[in-house]
Amino acid sequence: MAKQLKASPVQPPLGQQQLVQPAQAATGRVPGPATQALQDERARYLPRGVFTYHPVFPASGTGARLMDVDGNRYLDFAGGIGTMNVGHSHPAVVAAIEQQAQQYTHTCAHVATPPPYIELARRLTEITPGAFAKKTLLVNSGAEAVENAVKIARAATGRSAIIAFENSFHGRTNLALTLTGKLRPYRQNFGPFALDIHTVPYPYCYQCAQHGDAAAGDCCREWIGTLERAFLTRVTPEQVAAVLVEPVQGEGGFVVPPPDFLPSLRELCTRHGILLIADEVQTGFGRTGRMFACEHSGVEPDLLLMAKSLAGGLPLAAVVGRAELMDAPLPGGLGGTYGGNPVACAAALAVLDVFAREGLVERAGVLGALALDRMRAWQGRFQLVGDVRGLGAMVAMELVRDRALRTPAAGEAASLLVEARERGLLLIKAGLYDNVIRLLMPLVTTDAEMAEGLDLLEEALAAVSAQPAPHAEAH
Ligand code: PMP
Repeated sequence: MAKQLKASPVQPPLGQQQLVQPAQAATGRVPGPATQALQDERARYLPRGVFTYHPVFPASGTGARLMDVDGNRYLDFAGGIGTMNVGHSHPAVVAAIEQQAQQYTHTCAHVATPPPYIELARRLTEITPGAFAKKTLLVNSGAEAVENAVKIARAATGRSAIIAFENSFHGRTNLALTLTGKLRPYRQNFGPFALDIHTVPYPYCYQCAQHGDAAAGDCCREWIGTLERAFLTRVTPEQVAAVLVEPVQGEGGFVVPPPDFLPSLRELCTRHGILLIADEVQTGFGRTGRMFACEHSGVEPDLLLMAKSLAGGLPLAAVVGRAELMDAPLPGGLGGTYGGNPVACAAALAVLDVFAREGLVERAGVLGALALDRMRAWQGRFQLVGDVRGLGAMVAMELVRDRALRTPAAGEAASLLVEARERGLLLIKAGLYDNVIRLLMPLVTTDAEMAEGLDLLEEALAAVSAQPAPHAEAH
């Protein structure tokens, strides 16, 4: 599998100043010797359940660039699955982490609340949609934010049922998995699952049963009928505490719903006294060209969940919601040992400053437009590119073997990741059928880096298009 990359002498891991060289200037053979050794150790000591897209072991990173332990350089368009919106090791984030770590690293908010927790709580209430009074709970991961939102919704409404969507992803803990609408690989062998969770279809226009057209949007009305039918056949609206929704499905394949989807859902929830929980773990922090994706439709969720890019790569997540709902659980009902860790909070406060100073929300729109333009051109040139879609910088292309039948090309998508990596570009995929190539490049990616990354992706696409269709569907 290893391919000779454009050669320059193999060197030990290099300093950050050398990362500004082009991605193709990767050194020597891939995998290099240090990578090979780590691959063996990884296989020996990590459980196979911890899947990795790439046999790449990072040594350093800056902005949109990563260097591996053998000195190979990559453009990182996976961005830690949407965690690195401010880029790798942003100097302002690193400085904030260093400064806080020198003062104290932890107390546990249940013993003595770190002031950065309080400042971050306030600032998150200020940047989230809705002019009403809000409060913020800090936890450690997206899954934990989901778990806590469900607890809060149940405590606040006295109802137990939760409605979630097919093809969604909400995390890997038991309750979050129950809410996740994709079986393989996330849920298989892990039951029994939590009770009173009901999943209904999400408007996935390109792959909907009627093979509808996203532009026409007719078949997308189906989702609301299915939800209303669920109120007759499965759970009455009076039993439902909350609807949990991704404004754009992330792991599901960057599925952008029709514009009236969220407003209709908001109206339906309000009518039945059901809370609307927006899972913005992947869509938040500028990814879609707004700070939060709900802003595109003016919808104000009752609870909004964020994680990933919140703290520039440090583990931190939040539930931000209406103050009276957030206060429903009794004292001691919420929290955890690490939630609101001051180093993570300091990083998040620096991230918010970087967003404001560097205009990263606006930048997402520019980067996304560059990517969409190129992908639409590829759609004309490569049969493989069935659909191109996105919102802001949350851009993806769905690969198919047959344009008319929209047959998922999962094996080709897997090959594309390899071809791109061998050219110096790190990408990841997504989707119910594992056939969606998604871009989650840092929002600090420069125009030149964007063009370079898209050139590499185009080369990889040409290479895969020239290959015979793979037999095995790689995951
Ligand atoms: N919700 C969404 C929308 C996500 O994309 C993810 C992670 N991909 C999660 C929840 C879970 O986050 P975590 O991995 O931090 O638990």
